[in-house]
Amino acid sequence: MNQDCIFCKIAAGQIGDTIYQDDEVTAFKDINPQAPVHILIIPNKHIASLNETGAEDQALLGQLILAAPKIARQQGLTAYRLVINTGAQSGQSVFHIHLHLLGGRNMHWPPG
Ligand code: AMP
Repeated sequence: MNQDCIFCKIAAGQIGDTIYQDDEVTAFKDINPQAPVHILIIPNKHIASLNETGAEDQALLGQLILAAPKIARQQGLTAYRLVINTGAQSGQSVFHIHLHLLGGRNMHWPPG
């Protein structure tokens, strides 16, 4: 756990509410939702971004993505978008990998 990381604190149950948690991943509602359903799915382990992953994270990254359809089903969604912003220029503002799960409205393409 990184003591300076807000998402580590959420995964550890120190702050906020979670909507899903297992041994590897945690999910919670985005504090500034961009869609009627906007959930963040994170690894419990601190990894700053996709750029800091390697072969040893293969299973964990699979678990992160496989959590999405489970959580989407829980939320009553059959259509949704998954986004992983990577690097400040992409819009990443929290440097603990997170998968945005967005749904509940029509999505536009290309994204901004
Ligand atoms: P990104 O810009 O891709 O790094 O996404 C970070 C997301 O984290 C943003 O959508 C923020 O609204 C969200 N966020 C930041 N702090 C919190 C928090 N304490 N609880 C829930 N969501 C948060």
